[in-house]
Amino acid sequence: MKWNETLKNIKTYEAGKPIELVVREYGIEPQNIVKLASNENPYGTSPKVIEAVRQRAADMAIYPDDSMYELKEGLAKRFGVGSDNIIIGAGSDQVLEFCARAVLSPQTSVLMSKITFAMYEIYAAQMGAHVIKSSCYRHDLDEFYELFKKHDPAVIHICTPNNPTGDAIDRDYLYGFLDKVREPLVIVDGAYMEYAAYKDAKKRIEPRELVERYDNVIYLGTFSKAYGLGGMRVGYGIAKKEIIQQLSKLRPPFNITTLSLLAATKALEDSEHVERSVAANFAQMERYVNFALQRGLEFIDSYTNFITYILPQHISSKEVAQKLLEQGVIVRDLTSYGLNALRITIGTPEQNDVLFAHLKEVLDGYQE
Ligand SMILES: *Cc1c(COP(=O)(O)O)cnc(C)c1O
Repeated sequence: MKWNETLKNIKTYEAGKPIELVVREYGIEPQNIVKLASNENPYGTSPKVIEAVRQRAADMAIYPDDSMYELKEGLAKRFGVGSDNIIIGAGSDQVLEFCARAVLSPQTSVLMSKITFAMYEIYAAQMGAHVIKSSCYRHDLDEFYELFKKHDPAVIHICTPNNPTGDAIDRDYLYGFLDKVREPLVIVDGAYMEYAAYKDAKKRIEPRELVERYDNVIYLGTFSKAYGLGGMRVGYGIAKKEIIQQLSKLRPPFNITTLSLLAATKALEDSEHVERSVAANFAQMERYVNFALQRGLEFIDSYTNFITYILPQHISSKEVAQKLLEQGVIVRDLTSYGLNALRITIGTPEQNDVLFAHLKEVLDGYQE
């Protein structure tokens, strides 16, 4: 068979390990497994969402409302934009894919931070586009601007807060950059914005402001993280109508299931659940900061629901992740990002108790 040339340059995305795999491979009971690897909301979704989905479960026989009227209305109201400023994807991942397909080709390039969400590079590679990375893992937008002038990329990715590092940029700093780049499609990925906005108002990016100010910017949000709907696959893009119209040509019909649409619509209505989850997240985050300080571990100040511990050279993050896995604790090793670091999702108080107990034990096993 003759495969597309572009496939040569694509690495398969390595997702966080699922609970089922740990059950199969290590014989650990599912209730004893603590999954802190994919930045889901450890408190789950709103009970109101679960109840609504239960009641309407039989609707799964019927094709979904392809106009996604209710969810778009809900998002439009929440963000103060029009329904025609919104596109819904099966996760914001799918919106990223629409963006890539809409503007990229082998003649184009994509600019992104040195260490950022792995899918940006994969979608670029799928289109055969050239990837340009900044030299710094933080979003140094002065360097971004230099690289923009040099390479004239078709897409610029800005992930704030950034995954897998957890740092975020100030809104004014972002606007200063966006004011200067009017041509390429700039994708502002706010997958963790609910967390950042809670911690520091200066980090809050309002999609409405982006839409009003910029013709070439799309904001991405997701229901997978703070809203607790990772298993339902719903995300959204917010941009000027012209961008949404173009991207919509690439959207497969019925890309969001009936029950996912319902779940996301209901989740949006229960903002108190999200607020409580976010507040609890930062209360628990303090424990992670204290643990790092006590053990002398380097960490990155996080605006998200995860924290990144950078390990000293003599302790391999890959090995530590494996040892934790054998104890039923799933965390994300960042070796594939070129970091000797672990990304740990902030869990419930009980999950964090388990994580700290095992992590202490594993780290104590390494001689100073
Ligand atoms: C989780 C995540 C997404 C998208 O997740 P979906 O489940 O596809 O909505 C996008 N960007 C970043 C940075 C993420 O961490």
